[in-house]
Amino acid sequence: MKTEHKMHVLLVEDDMVLADGVARILRGHGMVVDVVTNGDDADRALQSREVSVAVLDIGLPGIDGFEVVRRLRARGSSLPVLLLTARDDVQDRVRGLETGADDYLVKPFAAPELVARLKALVRRSNPRPAELQLGGLQLDPFARRATIDGQIIELSAREWAVLEYLMQHASRVVSKQQIIDAILPWGEEVTLNAVEVYVSRIRAKIAQAGIAIKTIRGFGYMLEPTRPAQE
Ligand code: CA
Repeated sequence: MKTEHKMHVLLVEDDMVLADGVARILRGHGMVVDVVTNGDDADRALQSREVSVAVLDIGLPGIDGFEVVRRLRARGSSLPVLLLTARDDVQDRVRGLETGADDYLVKPFAAPELVARLKALVRRSNPRPAELQLGGLQLDPFARRATIDGQIIELSAREWAVLEYLMQHASRVVSKQQIIDAILPWGEEVTLNAVEVYVSRIRAKIAQAGIAIKTIRGFGYMLEPTRPAQE
C-alpha cells in the first residue's frame, strides 16, 4: 500500500469557536492540526514545529498575521501560508500577498473550500522534479522513465541513479566519489570499480542518444552532447 504523509496544519485563530470548528473539519480530512490563539505563539510554533501549511488569521492578539508571515519569510521559509481575513477588504488581501502569504480566504468561508485550497497549496509547494534532457535522452525523475527519442530504455535502479546524477551535472566533470556519494546517501558500500561497471552499462544503453560519457582519466566522467542541439 502507498504510504501518504499526513498534512500537518498550524491553525492560528483567536476566535476559539471558529478555531475548534475549523480544526475539527481539517482533522476529519485526515490532517494533523495544531491550534494557537495569538501571533507570538504562532511565531514561536513556526520556528520549532514541522508543519506543512499555516492558516493564519490577520487580526490576532500580540503581533498580527501580517507580521507573523513577514518574520517567517525573513527567516527564509517557503512554508505555504493561507491568510484568513475578517472583511472582504482588498487592501488586506493585497498586503497579505505582498507580505508573502500564498492565498487567502474571507470569513465566513465554506469548509470544503478551505480544505481544497490547503491541499492545493501543499501540492504546489512540492512540485514534481523537472525533466532532464540532453541530446535525444530524456529522464523523467518523477515517473523514473528514461527515453531516447521517445523509446523507453531499461535501467537498473543504480544505473538510473548514476545517469540521473550525470544528467544533473551535464557538461561538467564529476568524480567517481561524487557519483558514489550521490547514489548512496545511506552509506551502503559501493566501490569505484562498481561505478565503472555502471557507467559502461549506461554507455551501451545510451549509444544512440547523441550524448557520450567521457572518461576523465584518474578522476571521473563528463556527460556531454555529441550532436548539435536541434534548432
Ligand atoms: Ca481574529
